[in-house]
Amino acid sequence: MQWNRNIRTLNNDELKAWLREVDEKPFRADQIQNWLFCRQVKSFDEMLNIPPALRQKMANQFAIRGLTEDKHMVSVDGTVKWLFKTEDDHHIETVMIPANGRYSVCVSTQVGCAMNCAFCRTAKMGFTRNLEAGEILEEIINVNWYLQESGLLDEEGKTAQVTNIIFMGMGEPLNNLENVHRVCCTLHNQKLFNMGRKRMTVSTSGIVPKIKELVDRNTPCCLAISLNSTNNEYRSSVMPVNKTWPIEKLLEAVDEYIRRTDNYVTFEFVLIQNITCTPRAAKELIRICAPRRVKVNAIVLNDGDDPTLHAPTAEEVEDFLAAVRAAEIQITIRNARGRDILAACGQLAYKKEGQKC
Ligand code: SAH
Repeated sequence: MQWNRNIRTLNNDELKAWLREVDEKPFRADQIQNWLFCRQVKSFDEMLNIPPALRQKMANQFAIRGLTEDKHMVSVDGTVKWLFKTEDDHHIETVMIPANGRYSVCVSTQVGCAMNCAFCRTAKMGFTRNLEAGEILEEIINVNWYLQESGLLDEEGKTAQVTNIIFMGMGEPLNNLENVHRVCCTLHNQKLFNMGRKRMTVSTSGIVPKIKELVDRNTPCCLAISLNSTNNEYRSSVMPVNKTWPIEKLLEAVDEYIRRTDNYVTFEFVLIQNITCTPRAAKELIRICAPRRVKVNAIVLNDGDDPTLHAPTAEEVEDFLAAVRAAEIQITIRNARGRDILAACGQLAYKKEGQKC
C-alpha cells in the first residue's frame, strides 16, 4: 500500500530541498515547521502565512495526520492509553503518565516488535514495520491536543504540555534508530520543542552495535538498558537478544557510552519472583553496578501471558531494594501505572478480532 510521507518526518534541510524542487522559497521551511511543531496544527489550511498554492502542493505530497485515534482509555490513576491507527491500517499504542505536574509520554517506535522477550505482550504481535519519525512525533502531538482539550494545567497554571518522552512503548527503538534520532533532534531543537536531553530516554533490550551508533550520532537523549537479569543463561532464555549480545558485550557498550557521553546509564530490572528478585540476584546486580556510573530502575513484573512468571510479594521487593541500597547503588522502583487499562510496562499489544495475543 502506498501512502504519502508524513510531513513531520522531514527535517529542516529536507523541507528546504523539497521547497526548491517545487519552485518555492526555502525560507518557508521555518514557517512551516513552526506551524507543525510549535502550533501543532491539524491541517495545512491552518498555516495562515503560507500561500494557498503552496499549502495545496504540500497537501498533494504529504500527510499531516498519519495517525487516527481509534480510542483512548483513562486509568483510575490518570494514566491515559491511546490506540492509534496508521495510514496503512496498523495499530499502535501510546501512553501518557501524569505525575506532579509532569506529563511523560511513552511512545511506540515500531508496529509490533521483533525482540520476542518472554515476559512482554508486544512480542506476541510479531513485527510489522518501523514507524516514521513523523508518526512518532504525532503520537506526542496527539497527547498535547488531549492535554489542551481536557484543560489540564502545569505547575505554573498554564495549559499542560508533554514534558518528558520515554521510548518504551511498542518496539525496539534502536532497531529504528534513524527515525528515533530524527525524533530526538526535532524534540531537542530550540526552535521546535526545545526539550532538554535529560527529558528523553531511549530504552533498549541491548542491541550492542546500535548503542555505539547512538553515541557516534550524538543523539540527544538518555539511555536505559533492559538488563532484567545478570545471568546469561537466564537472560538468553527470556530475552533472545542475549544470545547475540551477551551481558559482557552489553556491559562493554555501556562502559563505552558512559566514557564517551559522560552521562550515566539506567538499568531497567524487571523483578520476577524467585528468579530476578532474590538475595542472590541482588548481589549479582550490585557486582555489576558498583564499578559503573549507573542507576537502577526496578519494575515489578506486570501480568503477561507467561503463566510460569510471577510478580514478587511486596516484602520480597522491599528486601531486594534494601539489599541494593545497602551497597549504595541508586535504585528506584517504577510504580506500575495504568495496569487497569493494560497500559503498564510490557502490556502494550493490539489484538485483531479473533487473534490471540
Ligand atoms: N524494546 C525496548 C523498549 C520497550 S520495553 C526495551 O526492551 O527496552 C520497556 C520496558 O518494559 C523494558 O525495560 C522491559 O524490560 C519492561 N517490561 C516488558 N515486559 C514487562 C512486564 N511484563 N512487566 C514489567 N516490565 C516489563
